[in-house]
Amino acid sequence: MNPIFIFALHKAGTVDDTVAELLTVAKKINPTAGPIALVAGIGVELAQACEALQATFTKVWKIEHAECAAGNAEVLRPALVKIIPPESIVLLAHEHFAMDLAPGLSIKLGVPYVPDTIAVEATDVVTLKFVRQAFSGQFNSSVTCDASGGAVITIRPGAFKAEQPAPLHGEVIEKTSEIGTLAVRRRYQTTVPAAQGDVDITRQTVLVSVGRGIQDEENIAIAQELADVLGGAVSCSRPVVDAKWLDKSRQVGSSGATVKPKVYLACGISGSFQHMAGINGSPFLVAINKNPHAPIFQFADLGIVDDVLEFLPVLTERVREMTSGKSASAKTAIAK
Ligand SMILES: Cc1cc2nc3c(=O)[nH]c(=O)nc-3n(C[C@H](O)[C@H](O)[C@H](O)COP(=O)(O)OP(=O)(O)OC[C@H]3O[C@@H](n4cnc5c(N)ncnc54)[C@H](O)[C@@H]3O)c2cc1C
Repeated sequence: MNPIFIFALHKAGTVDDTVAELLTVAKKINPTAGPIALVAGIGVELAQACEALQATFTKVWKIEHAECAAGNAEVLRPALVKIIPPESIVLLAHEHFAMDLAPGLSIKLGVPYVPDTIAVEATDVVTLKFVRQAFSGQFNSSVTCDASGGAVITIRPGAFKAEQPAPLHGEVIEKTSEIGTLAVRRRYQTTVPAAQGDVDITRQTVLVSVGRGIQDEENIAIAQELADVLGGAVSCSRPVVDAKWLDKSRQVGSSGATVKPKVYLACGISGSFQHMAGINGSPFLVAINKNPHAPIFQFADLGIVDDVLEFLPVLTERVREMTSGKSASAKTAIAK
């Protein structure tokens, strides 16, 4: 049976939401495998991450190295090559760090690499069948991978619902001594925080997110009205920022902010990989799009095929009726 490893991202000791999504994928690949967490970093933050991971993994493999704390793929890659046993399947979230780490890792391990997968179609552990998107999500392709000798697979954040396994108290296994001395040619310098706009979209419970389908700057007011009645904020896709209709601080995605709302209304957004990469924490995703074949519907909990310019004012009115005369907590209740 191929062992399954999950590379666990963490920030300041807080384990990333994608880890729970990778657990879902691991279970789809092999329900009985019992995946092992791989975690790297240093000091208290690493200890906190390990403690959190122990609650959902039976085994947590820990690598303590200062450069690994800064997400240095050049250092971590040879470290992983030294400790990952043959025939392992390694799962990572398809975000910046994995894009740097995973291709070279698959080469060094001598195993196939399947990037940015959005679904697992086959359950046969030896021959895995995944779904990937092509041409900015316009097409889905099925990819078959012979994983008998292992594989490195990156999974699109948000494509799988987070697994909520029964609480465990797994074992932390120290792997640092096995990695030996690592050559460091690329060093972490500093983190530059993103510019903060008038509204912090990363802290909102409800986001009404507008895409190119909103068609004009003046139509953003329609989305703002809905956000107001829901007690949320307006965010957007990149074309809206490029058109200067909204500030860059409102952009969700790989080159924008990563958001973690409870409810995400995607209004006239096609669902490109770069946009979806910014939606974290498996929110209840409502997609409103006039194209029934828009890729966003594959990720949506609720899909509405309609013109946003017609649908949003009607929805705003309905929410107003439901909350009229009620306290602000009623809005929060709707969001819940
Ligand atoms: C390096 C790089 C980084 C990027 N980073 C980001 C990023 O951080 N965030 C991001 O969002 N994008 C990013 N992009 C761009 C990304 O690839 C897509 O082009 C972008 O997400 C598409 O935005 P959209 O869905 O609003 O527009 P489109 O893809 O044009 O989709 C518009 C959608 O609106 C629908 N529509 C049109 N009119 C209506 C209507 N009246 N009612 C209902 N639906 C309607 C259409 O059917 C369509 O599905 C990046 C690209 C690159 C190359």
